[in-house]
Amino acid sequence: MSHVMNTYARLPVAFVRGEGAWLWDEQGKRYLDGLSGIAVNTLGHAHPILIKAMSEQIGKLMHCSNVYQVPGQEQLADKLCSLTKMQEAFFCNSGCEANEAAIKIARMYGHQQGKESPAIIVMEKAFHGRTLATLSATGNRKVQVGFEPLVKGFSRVPYNDLAALQQVAHNNNDVVAVLVEPIQGEGGIRALDIDYLKQLRAICDERNWLLMLDEVQCGIGRTGKWFAHQHAGILPDVMTLAKGLGSGMPIGACLTAGKAAGVFGPGNHGSTFGGNPLACTAGLTTLNVIEQEGLLAHADTLGKYFHDAFSSQLSGVSGVVEIRGQGLMIGIELSKPCGELVKLALEQGLLINVTADSVIRLLPPLIMSQTEAQQLVDGLCPLIKAFLQP
Ligand SMILES: *Cc1c(COP(=O)(O)O)cnc(C)c1O
Repeated sequence: MSHVMNTYARLPVAFVRGEGAWLWDEQGKRYLDGLSGIAVNTLGHAHPILIKAMSEQIGKLMHCSNVYQVPGQEQLADKLCSLTKMQEAFFCNSGCEANEAAIKIARMYGHQQGKESPAIIVMEKAFHGRTLATLSATGNRKVQVGFEPLVKGFSRVPYNDLAALQQVAHNNNDVVAVLVEPIQGEGGIRALDIDYLKQLRAICDERNWLLMLDEVQCGIGRTGKWFAHQHAGILPDVMTLAKGLGSGMPIGACLTAGKAAGVFGPGNHGSTFGGNPLACTAGLTTLNVIEQEGLLAHADTLGKYFHDAFSSQLSGVSGVVEIRGQGLMIGIELSKPCGELVKLALEQGLLINVTADSVIRLLPPLIMSQTEAQQLVDGLCPLIKAFLQP
């Protein structure tokens, strides 16, 4: 029996190496990676430029404390801010930590305005992480049950429902911020309407609330733009990042702008590992390679290919509810729970995921080629059809 704590229902496969969009298991069987370690391996596996940059940095300096200057952090913060007009970046190691920082910023911001119990509006079906505060912000009972008492100060509204949000705005004077994923990942690849995002920005401005966007899954080029909110042409006050930022190296970031900038001063927040020189090298290299290799345009093009190919191959198949998503964040909703497809695909050498019970989720690496995308579609569609029409 394994001594690893039993927190995941793991699939019966162990990978030993990867290259590009491919992974190999212990028996030498190869798999096409349609998941990227859940939106993590932005540059695929073993990208030569990342290997070189990381190897060089390991040879120089991996860790030094945040009590010293860390030039890599400054470079990565500059780069991230230049991509979306944010002003400051706090570095941590994961998505939940980035959201913890955002939640603390919102509370501190509220207190600075004389609100003693500041509240944050969050969405149904949201996922923000598994620490106590972030699981309390999460809109999935399965994630919360057994961990009560939950952290207070969250007010939940349905996704894409402006009237519900206005209602809370009207009734709850404690609200100081809205925390939302522009495209819900775990919730089933559900996007906020562009118009909703624009209205949300306006309401936040009007009420002096912070607009806090959780781009942990949808950020870093995945949707064909650097960040998903850029499709709506709005700017957040706070944005959280993690998953794809380090292409496999753990790193998270909480960025602030405008009224959220400067809320934290020395002593308000911290992290031992956060933003160490090695993690920042991974972040900076990931962003540079996305630029050098034109991966934003590629994610957009390949995303359209996936959408068209799935639409045509699955058209008229009863039980396919919707094919949706943006860029390389793709959801295929079926009419029934379809978790068993993950294992069937695995046997065929395809790595996919199912979330929200009945949504097939694809998050391929941004470096996946058109041929590989076609292989994924051609391999997956017969499995879906056989599953729906046995
Ligand atoms: C994965 C995820 C998180 C949590 O990230 P961890 O690194 O697992 O803590 C938070 N928000 C969103 C939108 C995510 O997809």
